Amino acid sequence: MRCLMCGKDLMEGSLTDILIGEDPLCSSCRSQWEKIRWRFRFHGVPVYASYLYNEAFSACLIQYKECCDEALADVFLTEEKNRVKRMYRGWTMIPMPSTPERQKQRGFHHLRGMLACTGLPVLDAFEKTAAGEQKKQDRAGRLKMADAIRLKEDAVLPEKIVLFDDTVTTGSTILGALRCLEGRNIQIRIYAVSVNYRWVRKNRVSLLFKR
Ligand SMILES: [Zn+2]
Repeated sequence: MRCLMCGKDLMEGSLTDILIGEDPLCSSCRSQWEKIRWRFRFHGVPVYASYLYNEAFSACLIQYKECCDEALADVFLTEEKNRVKRMYRGWTMIPMPSTPERQKQRGFHHLRGMLACTGLPVLDAFEKTAAGEQKKQDRAGRLKMADAIRLKEDAVLPEKIVLFDDTVTTGSTILGALRCLEGRNIQIRIYAVSVNYRWVRKNRVSLLFKR
């Protein structure tokens, strides 16, 4: 088996690669990911984040999402799946929506793909209301996006839900989702596989612990 990012033969790699045979990335590619395992609150809602959004994480995410390399699906939660499974047992994962056009172009549901290895239930409760790629917009545009998300008309929400996204850049999508859920008697958590450090700092979120 070869590393899905650099192509190195995993059996010819370091002892770590051979021993931790489950990881589809070699130890040298993996070591470029910054694992943080931060817990903090955003608008009062408990957040858990696994990685900092850095160059290596971004490269992998682009390869997966934009280059539609579905084989990378397991890369994102390999190190975290047991922890995530334990943490959210009894909860339903609610992915943040892509535009239908983007998803069609990709040919697969990238967030469901990431979550598959956890076996947790996934519900597509949200949809985007306006076309418009987040990346192409300036900051003001991205903040407006907070309102560009809505609950699907037929969405029946379970009592315990986890808003799930691959990366939180400005927090606007998550904030939009929280606004849609205002006034509902449900328990909410947020799980972001990665977070942008600037967003964490800007919101002066209090890190509950850091290790
Ligand atoms: Zn590699």
